[in-house]
Amino acid sequence: MPIEAVVPRFPGNGIITSKTHTYRDPGPGELLVRIGANAICGTDRHEYFNGTSIVPGHEAAGVVVDTGPDTTTAGGTRGAIYLMDYCGDCRSCRIGATNQCTAKRADVGQTTDGGYGPYAIAHETNFFPIGDDLPLPVATMLLDVMGTSSHALRRAELVRPDIESVYIAGAGPIGLGLLVMTKIRYGADFPVYISDVSPWRRDFAESLGAVGLDAEREQPILDVKPDMAFDATGKEVARRLALTALDKRGSLICVGHGEGLTLNVSVDLISPERAVLGSEYFRFDEMAENLQLLLANQELVSRVITHQLPVASLQEAFELFLSGETGKVVVTQDLDA
Ligand SMILES: [Zn+2]
Ligand SMILES: [Zn+2]
Repeated sequence: MPIEAVVPRFPGNGIITSKTHTYRDPGPGELLVRIGANAICGTDRHEYFNGTSIVPGHEAAGVVVDTGPDTTTAGGTRGAIYLMDYCGDCRSCRIGATNQCTAKRADVGQTTDGGYGPYAIAHETNFFPIGDDLPLPVATMLLDVMGTSSHALRRAELVRPDIESVYIAGAGPIGLGLLVMTKIRYGADFPVYISDVSPWRRDFAESLGAVGLDAEREQPILDVKPDMAFDATGKEVARRLALTALDKRGSLICVGHGEGLTLNVSVDLISPERAVLGSEYFRFDEMAENLQLLLANQELVSRVITHQLPVASLQEAFELFLSGETGKVVVTQDLDA
């Protein structure tokens, strides 16, 4: 039976109201998921300021409450929803590169209803079960925070096996994810340098084990000479500085969308044998390893979440997040309400 529910409405201009919405029954291969938590993402800015007719939220975790035909997931299964409703059949999907699907059906929370509402419909193929123990707010860290950053680290490892230091431009949510995953993958003592213009963000990153650098002071960043640099700012000036700071055989992995980058190919790439790579979201098949890493490092990863607010305070949660003085802000919902 279709479900009528009150959901947040995003008309634009930084306003969140509410509306009544009807959720259809899950179709073949689909699950109806009752949402327990959704983390706010920087890309939600777009829906918040420009408005959208769908219910946003693409870092969601919840519980299966109804299943469509041709599914095997049991009701009551807890899990996280992978953003991309990938086809499973195309050339990319066949090798597991689901983040590069060429026939993607939707992006949950960006083109179809997502995690700020009480329910979301997801294909079983992009629902990732998490077991019974992990709190749903913590489970949202499997998505943009752990998933996107560990994929970027894997991209870096493709071009360089001997990574001994990492520099991250930008200590927002993506940068913090990169910081935490670098520490988890390479060890607590592994040197991670991170820059930001915000003293608050630098201090917060330092509390998670990084060396904080002022993004407006070039020389200390150039002196790092990192093996790998990650850009989480999307700014050309930050990418340029990161590329220049790299040591020989270093690479720049661009994770944050945004501006461009002008290359002096001989000096930047050929002589020092550097690479510039892009890294987009992550592959669905990377979630299993990340779940094990999350279970083993729950305390560290949970520290990235600085605020949890009920969905009734969604407007306040966005204002807090956009103040720039938070880690991840997670919006929660009472599953029994
Ligand atoms: Zn996101
Ligand atoms: Zn595909």
